Amino acid sequence: MKQLLVATRNRGKIKEIRALLDGLVEEVLCAADLPDLPETVEDGATFSDNALKKAREACKATGLPVLADDSGLVVSGLDGHPGVFSARFSGTNADDSANNSKLLQEVADLSEAERSAAFVCSMAFVSPDGVEQLFEGRVGGTIVDQPRGEHGFGYDPLFLVDGYQQTMAELPLDEKNRISHRGQALQAFKQYLAGA
Ligand code: IMP
Repeated sequence: MKQLLVATRNRGKIKEIRALLDGLVEEVLCAADLPDLPETVEDGATFSDNALKKAREACKATGLPVLADDSGLVVSGLDGHPGVFSARFSGTNADDSANNSKLLQEVADLSEAERSAAFVCSMAFVSPDGVEQLFEGRVGGTIVDQPRGEHGFGYDPLFLVDGYQQTMAELPLDEKNRISHRGQALQAFKQYLAGA
């Protein structure tokens, strides 16, 4: 593939995606390269609704093949919340620390089983010739009582990863990228591209 637009302004994600698609895509563009790209309102009920909406709108606006993602945390004892509201769990101008405080409050009375959770990522690929494909990644864990670790972002310090003694924020970044919801969805996209 010659060009691919990754519809995100998050530099960390772009870096990760560029590294993974090296050799498969000649030029990976990002939203920051196209200042006129309209911002998509993420009002879907699911991660895949939002990812598809973002990819469709960016494809229509630019005529380029687009990869867009949406991700978040689902907690079983909170009926899947914060889910698609992960970025704004504690309000519209929420930051990671306010969101984490709110999560700690909400899980305070939950049992260990009810604290089981997952990071989920949905990636949508939409191209001008009408192709629409969805890829999903998921990593399981448990919400802990105290933040631990300095790496990553978002809810990472509160997410004890299944099969590890560490939270996501205690894992080195290359290990997180290898096992993470986003890493898995990207690998699935990469396999699709390699076979397309
Ligand atoms: P988005 O996919 O950039 O819209 O992410 C939505 C929100 O989900 C982020 O603001 C974080 O709160 C949360 N989130 C998504 N992926 C991760 C992750 O890998 N670690 C921690 N939090 C995440």
